[in-house]
Amino acid sequence: IGVTNDEEALAKAAAVNADSEAPTIFDKIIAKEIPSSIVYEDEKVLAFHDVNPQAPVHVLVIPKFRDGLTMLGKAEERHTEILGYLLYAAKIVAEKEGILDGFRVVINNGPGGCQSVYHLHLHVLGGRQMTWPAG
Ligand code: AMP
Repeated sequence: IGVTNDEEALAKAAAVNADSEAPTIFDKIIAKEIPSSIVYEDEKVLAFHDVNPQAPVHVLVIPKFRDGLTMLGKAEERHTEILGYLLYAAKIVAEKEGILDGFRVVINNGPGGCQSVYHLHLHVLGGRQMTWPAG
């Protein structure tokens, strides 16, 4: 209802991508083939500023090895360690960005969840008063 053809086409394209294991732009960011503003990096995760920030602080935290985790909905038991570590890395990012007293962690999942890049990532948002519910 109320969905334009363009929006429908975009949603269909996203749905196709959702099932794809094709490399994403995040692989190039991990490989440093395209630049990013890195906040935190170790052997397991990379955190960098979102190019289209939705808050004064908006950082993405991604696993360096996607291992099938195109989206949270593809999680398997073998992923539990990296999933937990991503949350810990989000806390490190919040600390580094000075927003430990108030921040939000978001995972968009699939077309209905407004996911656009199919390499699991956490959004760490802060630096302003968050509102609820999220849009
Ligand atoms: P999502 O919509 O949850 O899949 O989030 C993907 C996010 O990646 C969006 O917020 C984009 O702004 C962000 N993004 C896309 N390309 C880049 C890039 N080259 N550097 C930083 N962030 C990016």
